[in-house]
Amino acid sequence: MAHKTYGNLIGGQWLPAQSGKTFLNINPADHSDIVGEFPDSAAADVDLAVAAAKKAYATWRLVPAPKRAEILFRAALLLSERKEQFAREMTREMGKVLTETKGDVQEAIDEAYYVAGEGRRLFGITTPSELENKFAMSVRMPVGVIGMIAPWNFPMAIPSWKLFPALVAGNTCVIKPAEDTPLSTYNLVQTLIDAGLPPGVVNIVSGYGPEAGAPLVEHPGVRAISFTGSSATGSLVAQRAAATFKPVSLEMGGKNAMIVMDDANLELALEGALWGAFGTTGQRCTATSRILLHKSIAAEFTSKLVARAAALRVGNGLDPAVEVGPQVNAQQIATSTEYVAIAIAEGAKLLTGGHPLTDGPCANGTFFAPTVFGGVTPTMRIAREEVFGPVVSLIEFSTFEEAIEIANSVEYGLSTSLYTKDVNRAFTAMRDLEAGITYINAPTIGAEVHLPFGGVKKTGNGHREGLGSLDFYTTWKAVYVDSSDKLQRAQIDNAE
Ligand code: NAD
Repeated sequence: MAHKTYGNLIGGQWLPAQSGKTFLNINPADHSDIVGEFPDSAAADVDLAVAAAKKAYATWRLVPAPKRAEILFRAALLLSERKEQFAREMTREMGKVLTETKGDVQEAIDEAYYVAGEGRRLFGITTPSELENKFAMSVRMPVGVIGMIAPWNFPMAIPSWKLFPALVAGNTCVIKPAEDTPLSTYNLVQTLIDAGLPPGVVNIVSGYGPEAGAPLVEHPGVRAISFTGSSATGSLVAQRAAATFKPVSLEMGGKNAMIVMDDANLELALEGALWGAFGTTGQRCTATSRILLHKSIAAEFTSKLVARAAALRVGNGLDPAVEVGPQVNAQQIATSTEYVAIAIAEGAKLLTGGHPLTDGPCANGTFFAPTVFGGVTPTMRIAREEVFGPVVSLIEFSTFEEAIEIANSVEYGLSTSLYTKDVNRAFTAMRDLEAGITYINAPTIGAEVHLPFGGVKKTGNGHREGLGSLDFYTTWKAVYVDSSDKLQRAQIDNAE
């Protein structure tokens, strides 16, 4: 079947890249399936998109926030109608199984309802002035044109976390989707347009990071950057943005630990481990990549986990019987393969998997066997570095305190989890685990949109998506109204 060719969205028009260059979006589960052809954009395209966003800002910022929010409510309804179709297209473009891509679209729906409610809650603060006949208040103002750069693993949810709060606050946007997953951003933005979003308020520039992402970060017309991706790229983005004092929100990598205590419900922990480690083929920033096992339950847990991991059905995510889809591209397969070799060289024990899958339902794509390493020590690279694939490390510990120390010993700090029936330990873990998210008796994945999402250390730079995102997409303005008809000097006229 002939594939469709898409344009960049600039000022409401679908335009090819100025250079005429394109790239193909290919199904990672079936390389003969071309999902679409997209503009391979560069600085000239970013210039046009930023100019369009700047023009639209002049009017969009004046639309009352409750009216802006109504567009999001309508988008939520439309997304619900289109959920099945968008999920299928997402599975084709990045591979995760249909139940998970439906969850991804659902997350955008949830975010739309949540943020739309904020349209009537963009509260400021009024406070007494220190002077008579003077009124003082603080109001949230939009920032201006926001540049957004997204990864491929949550191709609709993550753009929605960025676009919706930015829009309700009155900003206009230029978004660069990941090169592996532009279609889901197109589907999301087309839905916003169908819900009534005016031209130019959201613009899309598709393409590769250095060519299309970097010019967006550096563009003088862009007032802030919201980035989600790897810590290596995030560091580059932050350094480039610092040159012009541009605020940057960075959501980056993880090396998330699940701790299983000796009193845990082991069946529950086992299910959580399988879902946390192999859901989305391990390609979640919150994926469980370290399982810390109390030594008294380690042997039993390990043998059960290995048997269950080896039995997972890997294949095309559109097949309802499949539990684990492909990795997104050949580069991710190369990374998983490389980390398997590193782990073996460092003395970890390969218990199952450890290689690409190339036969049967996996013959035509980029698949990797669910992989479990035993005998991992906290200093091994496999225990410290993000793999972003279906590879999990098992580490044994003797005491709860030791487990917390191991969990905290990495450079990342996104998600953590503790399985225990001991409420005292649960509260200690909630306090002492260095991470933006802690789950008790649940896996490291499963965030909800109305809670803060983000991490500490190498995972983030202090901003949050979900709850807290409006703090990034607005700036505070202090307003004083003097009705005394005379000059009143703060700190002087009323001072002793
Ligand atoms: P990546 O860093 O390779 O790419 C992310 C985005 O940055 C892409 O759109 C890419 O084109 C762009 N980019 C690349 N080089 C750039 C440059 N020089 N300037 C500007 N933009 C550039 O990451 P990825 O492989 O797409 O995603 C996987 C990573 O994302 C993992 O590390 C994962 O943990 C992380 N992630 C984090 C979160 C979170 O919220 N913390 C969520 C999902 C994924």
